[in-house]
Amino acid sequence: MKIILLGPPAAGKGTQSAYLSKYYDIPAISTGSIIRNNISEGTELGTKAKVYIDEGKLVPDELVMDLVAKRIAQPDCKNGYILDGFPRTVAQAEAMEKLGINVDKIVELVLPDEEIVDRISGRRNCSECGAIYHTKDHPSKAGDRCDKCGGKLVQRADDTEETIKKRLEVYHEKTQPLGNYYAAKGNLVQIDSSGLLEDTSAAVRKAFGVE
Ligand code: ADP
Repeated sequence: MKIILLGPPAAGKGTQSAYLSKYYDIPAISTGSIIRNNISEGTELGTKAKVYIDEGKLVPDELVMDLVAKRIAQPDCKNGYILDGFPRTVAQAEAMEKLGINVDKIVELVLPDEEIVDRISGRRNCSECGAIYHTKDHPSKAGDRCDKCGGKLVQRADDTEETIKKRLEVYHEKTQPLGNYYAAKGNLVQIDSSGLLEDTSAAVRKAFGVE
């Protein structure tokens, strides 16, 4: 099973891909978190990508294509994978097809801009296991610690108000057209992600035929 999860920042892609990863026993690949790991480890890729991420811009396609090609060649991807945050431009989608990467299902989570800003500003991530929380909608029971592993909850460096505005602009200009691109090919499922997490999760399960 190979899946692409599309949608604006904070639409819930990370949460849904964690669920699908468990259900299908396939890895969830988030290009954003791979890039962030490279930044914190100070790799060459991280150093190149940091300038873009910090400004809320997209990292150049070549860097991302290289990273994805290497990741999906790993043995744990042999039965499939979920791509979260990739492709993010029509050029990336075309490059992916040229490499012979085909997917079974493409799901787009849809959410209005006002809600995106609210979700991003309240988003907190576990610094140890990456679990995702929201200060209002999905708070950790243990305050600033992760319920699952006890790790410290932190706010992503690119989740600031100014960067969010830029990321939304970039999303509308570069990523949203991918919805039409895949819809025209006839294999896109759109899911309203503006309601409660349970409703989005139920719609995702339905899209995958999970009872
Ligand atoms: P979000 O979807 O919440 O904005 P991500 O973790 O998916 O966050 O991505 C964070 C940042 O990483 C993006 O703003 C961008 O700079 C970079 N990035 C992630 N995936 C890609 C990609 N496929 N192409 C270009 N840049 C990317």
